[in-house]
Amino acid sequence: MDPGAPVTSLPGVGPKLAGKLRALGIARVRDLLLHLPRRYQDRTRIAPIGTLREGDDAVIQGTVDLAQVRYARRRMLLVRVSDGTGALLLRFFYFNAAQQARFQRGATVRCFGEIRAGPQSLEMIHPEYRLLDPAQPAPVEETLTPVYPATTGLSQHSLRKLISQVLQSLRDAASPRDFAELLPEEALDNERWPTLMEAIRYLHQPPPDADLARLRRGEHSAQQRLAVEELTAHQLSLRALRHTLRRRRAPALRGDQALRRRLLANLPYALTGAQKRVLEEIQHDLEHAQPMLRLLQGDVGAGKTVVAALAALAAIECGFQAAIMAPTELLAEQHQRNFERWFAPLGVPVLLLTSRLKGAGRQRLLEHIRERSPAFIVGTHALFQDDVAYGRLGFIIVDEQHRFGVEQRLALARKAGDSAAEETAHQLIMTATPIPRTLAMTAYADLDVSVLDELPPQRLPMQTVVIPDHRRAEVVARVHAAIREGRQIYWVCPLIEESEIIESEAATETAGVLAQALPEARVGLIHGRLKENDRDAVMRAFAEGNIDLLVATTVIEVGVDVPNASLMVIENAERLGLSQLHQLRGRVGRSAARSDCVLLYHPPLSAAARARLRCMRETHDGFVVAQRDLELRGPGELLGTRQTGLCQMHIADLFRDHALVPRAQRIAARMLEAHPDRVPLLIQRWLPDALHYGSV
Ligand code: ADP
Ligand code: MG
Repeated sequence: MDPGAPVTSLPGVGPKLAGKLRALGIARVRDLLLHLPRRYQDRTRIAPIGTLREGDDAVIQGTVDLAQVRYARRRMLLVRVSDGTGALLLRFFYFNAAQQARFQRGATVRCFGEIRAGPQSLEMIHPEYRLLDPAQPAPVEETLTPVYPATTGLSQHSLRKLISQVLQSLRDAASPRDFAELLPEEALDNERWPTLMEAIRYLHQPPPDADLARLRRGEHSAQQRLAVEELTAHQLSLRALRHTLRRRRAPALRGDQALRRRLLANLPYALTGAQKRVLEEIQHDLEHAQPMLRLLQGDVGAGKTVVAALAALAAIECGFQAAIMAPTELLAEQHQRNFERWFAPLGVPVLLLTSRLKGAGRQRLLEHIRERSPAFIVGTHALFQDDVAYGRLGFIIVDEQHRFGVEQRLALARKAGDSAAEETAHQLIMTATPIPRTLAMTAYADLDVSVLDELPPQRLPMQTVVIPDHRRAEVVARVHAAIREGRQIYWVCPLIEESEIIESEAATETAGVLAQALPEARVGLIHGRLKENDRDAVMRAFAEGNIDLLVATTVIEVGVDVPNASLMVIENAERLGLSQLHQLRGRVGRSAARSDCVLLYHPPLSAAARARLRCMRETHDGFVVAQRDLELRGPGELLGTRQTGLCQMHIADLFRDHALVPRAQRIAARMLEAHPDRVPLLIQRWLPDALHYGSV
C-alpha cells in the first residue's frame, strides 16, 4: 500500500466517503495515519457491574433479567441486566420490535457505554450492545479503543476500520516509503523516543496498560515524538518559504515622500517614537529590491494602522498599488473609512473589495484593480479570489495575522507581481497578539519582526474590575452614569455554547433587557447573524456617536476602533481565554479619556478562571498577558493554537508543546547541515501544501 495514494485507492472508499474524509482534511492514505485520536476508551476488560461508578465508560456483560416497554412521557424500552455483582438498567428510546424481541430473559448481553445514575439504579442510555452466544468465545478488545475527531455522516466505526486496515497492511512493510525515519538518528537516540511508525501505531492502538492520563495531557513520548517532528517540519518549511520568497525581486520603492509628508501633516497627532522607528524599519526594507517579509507586532491600540498607511504611500508614490487584507468584513469596512479619510485628500483612490460585492459593481471594481494605476485596495480574503488580478501590486498588508493561515498570505503573495519575471510584492504582517518569543520564532520563522512597544500618549491608565453576575444591577447603574457623562459603552456577550445562533440570541436578549433598564439610552445591537449592511450601519452609528450602548457578540473582538468608547462590559468573562479578553478590552482606552473594563463572571470560578481574571485585573500589558496565557494554559484547560488560529498543526500545539520548540529548532538546523536531502521529504510529509510555496 502506498501511503501517498488517495484514500479512494482503499477498498470500500468511494467518492461519497472520500468527500466526508476530505472534510476532516484527509485526502491521502497518509493523512489517515496522521489523523490521531482525540481520546480513548477502555474496552479491553469487562467491568463487574458492582464496581461501576457514575461517569465511567465501561464494558459490562450479564444476563437479561427483564425487558419491558414503558410509557413515562415517552415510549421506552428498559432492560435489566445482572452479572452476580450487581444489576444495571439499559434504557432505549429508539428501538424496533425485532430489537425488543432479542432481549429474551436469560440471554447474555455485552454492552459498552457511559454509566449514569438513574432514578433506581445505575443505567446506560443507548449503549452499544451485542447479544452473545454463550457457547462461542467473545474476546474483548486487545488495545484501547481510539475516539477520532469525526464529522457528520462518518462514524467512529468506519474511521477505526479504515485506519486499522491501513495499519495492518503496513505491518509487513518494515518502513513504508512515506514513513521512513527522517529525523537525524542522533536526535532520536538522545531522547529515547519511539520511531515514527512505532509512535503512530501506539497512538492508534495503545496497549491496555497505556498511561491514559499522560496521553490525555499530550505528554506521552509517542505524542511528543510526533509533535517534535511536526514542529521541525514547520520550521523547515517556513525557512524554505523565506528562502524562496527572498530569491524573488520586488520593486525598490524609493518615493519622493510627498504623499507621506502630506498625510503626516494632516494627522491630528504626531507619531510616537515607536511608530517612527518601526516606520523607518519598514521603509528601509521597501527601498530594496529584496521583498520585505516583516511582522509588525503591537499591542491593541498601539496605532498600527497609521503606520501601515504611511508605508502604503511609499508604494503609491512610486506608481504601485498597495492592498490591506482584513480578517472580517466589519474590519475591512472600518479600514476603508479610515483610509478614505486619509487618502481622499491626497487624491489616492481607495477601493473596497469584499465577497459581498457582486455583479456589475464587482466587475467594474475588478477592472479598476487590473489597471496599472496607483490605488489602495481594502478587502477580506476576497482579495485573492481567482478572478482578481492586480495591475501593479507592490505592497501587501495583512492585518490581524492570527486570523489568517500562512496559506492565505501566500495566496495573496502569489497574485502579486509577475511570477514569470520572478517578481513579487513586499509584505507587512500585522498582529496584536503579542505572542511570547519562543512561539513567535516558530509561528513566524519566515519573518523579520518589528515591535510597536509604546502606546500613543495621553492615555489615562485603564481600570479593570471583576464582578460576580449577581451584582449586575450595580454594573447597569454604572453604565447609566457613564451614558450621562457622554461616554460610549460596549457590552459584550460572548458565546456560551459553540453556536453563532445562540450567541446572537443571547446578545439580542441582553440588548432588550438593557434597553428596558436604561430607557433614555440609545442601545444598538451587533452580532454575526446580522446582515452585513445592517452590521455596517450599526457600527457606523456607534462610531458617529449616535448609539450610546452597543451590545455585541465577539464579532467586535479584533480591530474595531471607536475612540470615544470608554467602558467595556464583558459577560461570562470566566469562559474566555486571556488573549481574547485582552483583545476585547483593547476596544476601549483609545483616547485621552479615562476608560474602564468590567469583567462579569458567573460563580463559582475554577482555579484557572480565577487566575485569568486576576491577571486581567493586574496588568494591561499585552506581552505580560501573553506570557501568563502560556503559563496558565494547562492541558485540557482552554484550547491552544487550534482555537487562536495562530498556526494550524496536526499534532503539535504551540501552546501545549512550546517546550519542544527549541529542540525542533536544533533538529531543523542539524537536518539542514547533515541531511539536506531529507528536508523536502519531511516538509512534504507534514505540510503537503507547502509544495505550492515553490510557485509563490
Ligand atoms: P491597533 O494597533 O490596535 O490597530 P489602531 O491603529 O486602531 O490600533 O489605533 C488605535 C487608536 O489610536 C486610533 O484611534 C488611532 O487614531 C490612535 N492613534 C494612532 N497613533 C496615534 C498617535 N501617535 N497619537 C495619538 N493617537 C494615535
Ligand atoms: Mg488594528
